[in-house]
Amino acid sequence: MLSQKMQSALNAQINAEMWSAYLYLSMSMAAADKGLKGVANWFAIQFKEEQDHAQIFINYLLSRGGRVLLEPIAAVDTEWDSALAMFEQTLTHEQKVTSLINDLYNLAIEEKDHATRSMLTWFVDEQVEEEDSAREIIDQLRMIDCNKLGLYMIDKEMAARVYSTPSPLVKE
Ligand code: MG
Repeated sequence: MLSQKMQSALNAQINAEMWSAYLYLSMSMAAADKGLKGVANWFAIQFKEEQDHAQIFINYLLSRGGRVLLEPIAAVDTEWDSALAMFEQTLTHEQKVTSLINDLYNLAIEEKDHATRSMLTWFVDEQVEEEDSAREIIDQLRMIDCNKLGLYMIDKEMAARVYSTPSPLVKE
């Protein structure tokens, strides 16, 4: 049985993932507004992935007989000066999410809740990827140093990103 404390913590994480989704949707809209179609695509996929993260936690809570309680989603920023500013905020935000996942993992260890600990392993690995991809794009954007042709090329590359369902949601 999931402890009440763990249920609350997992519910809080569902809200955090939905907040992430909302943040990236806002970034996608802002990028589209700047004519950066590729960046808009990249964040639109990120938006879907964050909803998937919430869904993984929802499925898990339900499978353990827990109760899912949806909380209001707090407001997100709507304006950024540049694509670089968006990715810098993305990295800072993902670092915060990593610490939330680590806190959940620590709680699972503390409570000897092996099933929750096992489920969280996927998220621990996912966060390494999330931070790495944001860092890589920040490096590229810094390299071009506001050069318009460079931004055009990076935007084109980002247009090629495609969505794929995360493994915990793939039905056998
Ligand atoms: Mg996430």
